Amino acid sequence: MRIVPISLPTPFYIGPVNVYLIAEDPITLIDTGPKTKEAIEALQDGLRKAGFRVSDIRRIVLTHSHEDHCGLAHSLRDQAKDAEVLIHDWETGHRAARLEYEENRALLTRAGLPENEIEWMRRMYDSVRRYADSFEDHEYNSLHDNGTLEFASGTLEVIHTPGHTPGSCSFLREADRTIIAGDCVLKRITPNPILSPDPIDKTRRFPSLAEYQVSLARLRALAPTLVYGGHGDAVHDFEELFNRYVRAMRERQAQVIKLLPKSGATAWEIAQTLFPDTDDVHRFLAVSEAVAHLDLAQSEGKIAVELSNGKEIYRPLSAK
Ligand SMILES: [Zn+2]
Ligand SMILES: [Zn+2]
Repeated sequence: MRIVPISLPTPFYIGPVNVYLIAEDPITLIDTGPKTKEAIEALQDGLRKAGFRVSDIRRIVLTHSHEDHCGLAHSLRDQAKDAEVLIHDWETGHRAARLEYEENRALLTRAGLPENEIEWMRRMYDSVRRYADSFEDHEYNSLHDNGTLEFASGTLEVIHTPGHTPGSCSFLREADRTIIAGDCVLKRITPNPILSPDPIDKTRRFPSLAEYQVSLARLRALAPTLVYGGHGDAVHDFEELFNRYVRAMRERQAQVIKLLPKSGATAWEIAQTLFPDTDDVHRFLAVSEAVAHLDLAQSEGKIAVELSNGKEIYRPLSAK
């Protein structure tokens, strides 16, 4: 089973995105790139070099529903005459045209964001939305943990690896323990556990960092020899990367706990202290990072949280 990485440009800060062609029947594309002219041209070019055209694609599999990964799915499916589209049920947003404005607004309010900041983030999100088309519920099929994608000469196993997003999935070729991991594994940066509503109970936050640690441990247990990520180079030494991630998460947690004043602080206040000069989408990522670490520290019994005037106030335990 031939896996062909194709790098596509994105208009986002993160830079190019990697999509993966499985050059075997049924011809499958894992992730698609954003909905831009530059990305579609680069994709056509990459497919051509591998000996294929868009119309040859029979199956589109999405690691998650961020615009840089899923943006072209709809138009590729149309061009490829109804190729099957697969994504995990826990990916919302673009998958099902459910943008979850209200749920996200509630989560941001509880994290301590002022109203004007929430409005600003909403406008920013609207401007990013144009890089992806939405899917209706009936237009895709569901990926299931431990499910398989069958090919002429082998299979890819679906591994649900939540954390970056609730429905993030990775794909294992068992024969040589190669994994395609989307944004779950990125060589140069620690992936950001994005603030999201829990797909089961949307009034709650998804415990992204706790889930992410479980996902990383699960991938590690598979002893991968090669991991293809959503951005940047492939990872040959997953063990080294795993340990680096664990160290970075431990250090960030210690930093976050240390920043908490005795009087308590919201996640928004901690985010601003952690990343004082952030702009654009990074303000949302900064809040996501702060919430993720505060949530995890609290669930591990290291800090306390209480709701005050609709905002969550985190406090060091010694202050109680
Ligand atoms: Zn992503
Ligand atoms: Zn990405």
